[in-house]
Amino acid sequence: MILDIKFIVLSSLLIAAIIPLYIYREKVFAFAYRKGDIEPFLDLVKNHMKKEHPLVPINYAIVEKTADEKDIRVRETIIVEDIVSQYFNYEYEKQTQGSVSKDKLWTGYDEKSVHNVKMPSDWVQRKELAWARDNQKCNRCAKTVSLKNSISIFVKDIEDGAGYNIENIITLCEDCNRVLNSKNPRNTMANLELMDRLMKYVES
Ligand SMILES: [Zn+2]
Repeated sequence: MILDIKFIVLSSLLIAAIIPLYIYREKVFAFAYRKGDIEPFLDLVKNHMKKEHPLVPINYAIVEKTADEKDIRVRETIIVEDIVSQYFNYEYEKQTQGSVSKDKLWTGYDEKSVHNVKMPSDWVQRKELAWARDNQKCNRCAKTVSLKNSISIFVKDIEDGAGYNIENIITLCEDCNRVLNSKNPRNTMANLELMDRLMKYVES
């Protein structure tokens, strides 16, 4: 069979045009091929969670579940959202906290510990004492917090007649406090500092 010369030329041109497209397909179709190694991202995220929120156990099953996702940025974003959701849903129960030795207390401590709708005048001292007792860590996730950024909450609510004794005070980080007070989970998750921090690891 003799092939028509026009056919041969056109086919060759077509193939010549397709070959570079094939070789550089990941660049040409970058929107569909943001492939990459997921491991460096996973290392960063896992280290972050272990270091910053060691009390919250994270299940990384989502990594396998998203293995077919072509776009690495989409995949990493789904992984971040899953981790934040696990952090949000981590069960936490407020429990009566430990006492401190008497020598760390001050004159008037006992009198001002009793129930009162108004905060006691030594509240700042109480907050700092609870924070020091908690080793400067959030009681829910164990993140290290500065005194300034720490949030103090009560095991039993003052409105329910509880007092300001040190055993009734819990130290939290800002994110955990937001989680415990959340009225709209989706909104809260999107606004957590954790979401911002983890999204910074997503490849840009
Ligand atoms: Zn926390």
